[in-house]
Amino acid sequence: MSKNLTKRSEDYSKWYNELVVKADLAENSGVRGCMVIKPYGYAIWEKIQRELDRMFKETGHSNAYFPLFVPKSMFEAEEKNAEGFAKECAIVTHYRLKTDEENKGKLIVDPNAKLEEELIVRPTSEAIIWSTYKGWVQSYRDLPLLINQWANVVRWEMRTRLFLRTAEFLWQEGHTAHATKEEALAESVQMMNVYADFVQDFMAIPVMKGVKTETERFAGAEETYCIEALMQDGKALQAGTSHFLGQNFAKAFDVKFANKEGKQEHVWGTSWGVSTRLMGALVMTHSDDNGLVLPPNLAPIQVVIVPIHRTDEQLDAISAQVNDLMKELRKAGISVKFDDRDTQKPGFKFAEWELKGVPVRLAIGPNDLENGTYEVARRDTLTKETVSKEGIVGYLQSLLEQIQSDLFNKALSYRDTHITEVNSFEEFKDVLENKAGFVAAHWDGTPETEEKIKELTKATIRCIALDRKEETGSCVFTGKPSSGRVLFAKAY
Ligand code: AMP
Repeated sequence: MSKNLTKRSEDYSKWYNELVVKADLAENSGVRGCMVIKPYGYAIWEKIQRELDRMFKETGHSNAYFPLFVPKSMFEAEEKNAEGFAKECAIVTHYRLKTDEENKGKLIVDPNAKLEEELIVRPTSEAIIWSTYKGWVQSYRDLPLLINQWANVVRWEMRTRLFLRTAEFLWQEGHTAHATKEEALAESVQMMNVYADFVQDFMAIPVMKGVKTETERFAGAEETYCIEALMQDGKALQAGTSHFLGQNFAKAFDVKFANKEGKQEHVWGTSWGVSTRLMGALVMTHSDDNGLVLPPNLAPIQVVIVPIHRTDEQLDAISAQVNDLMKELRKAGISVKFDDRDTQKPGFKFAEWELKGVPVRLAIGPNDLENGTYEVARRDTLTKETVSKEGIVGYLQSLLEQIQSDLFNKALSYRDTHITEVNSFEEFKDVLENKAGFVAAHWDGTPETEEKIKELTKATIRCIALDRKEETGSCVFTGKPSSGRVLFAKAY
């Protein structure tokens, strides 16, 4: 199979777009800014969902589902949230089409079918969910409410990229309500940690945990916790966010509870989400010029077996052995595929599974059959070795674990060598231009300086890291005092 992938060093962005399409993850659709997620891509998303869903349930959350449409008056209720999302909303104004009398075969919007109140296609569901919570919460006994929803949302993005930024995307959104501020804050931190653990342990992507500046904060939140990852081109990617909403939505939607003393109080809220953007992060962190590299924990197929044979008798003998091996592998929890298509040559199959990022490839030919061996190839390092069939299951189990941790460590070492402390604006620009990655710099804490730096360099403050060391210094831009470094980067 001809791969003809653009090289990362030539054009990283083109490489990414080509890879997503050629590896069969997704493609652009006939709808502006919206993508089709193909079966292979969706299989990875399903694994992401399954694991996150397990983690949400383990931390006490339940799933529910709320409407796609939000009446405009409901949408407006929390002003900051409404204002923040107003610029990127899709709005339903009519509910019927009719035949165009002057242009038969065409349809036009029926002017008599105008909605009394416009409906906003949810860009996020705080409004609809908090308007529902009003009916669910009366007393402290009803709290906490720990709900998650798996859904699609629409944000009318101007510049879209497959997975990274689409107009419609799939995500989960958690929405919780608590009796105290402390409890809600602890929940937002807990969910940031759940995201960080998932992204590190399953996606093999190291993340920085931090809080957003006021400018970058979610509209309607008091604090936004986030996890930020670094892609291979040195650009950052916001991989997940968890918001402490204070009492903003409770006040906007009048959600109150009677406390133990019988006094009425507004509840405290959080919301948190990760989206199909994670798929983009997965591709951009590990893949190479030959195609996808998938961490074993999320690969739909962990081991692919390719037979090499000249005669049908040889194939029969190989198949008999492989069928036994597959049973054992499946019993050990390893997902395996036997690629016995007789329409393609082994070389084609090798290239195809390489492009699709299957972590381990086993090849077996007549010699292997005779010697009791397999040729085992690793996708991440592209190395091969001959392994005895005795104990192959255990060997593959530990190899998959090894690949998972090697991928993480490789990404970690890239990330750690791409955090650069700078002490002047010249240095700041130089690092951004020539090295990229995170730039750790002092900042005077004002939105004005943040905006100016963004204008001049395109870099934004990705986060104020939770583990940053206290260190007084002066802002790289204004020279004013600062109490610690923040992480700047160009971002997706
Ligand atoms: P937010 O509600 O803005 O905090 O976003 C929740 C999650 O969705 C974050 O992890 C974002 O990175 C992600 N996200 C935001 N906008 C998009 C988009 N247009 N396409 C894909 N993911 C997005």
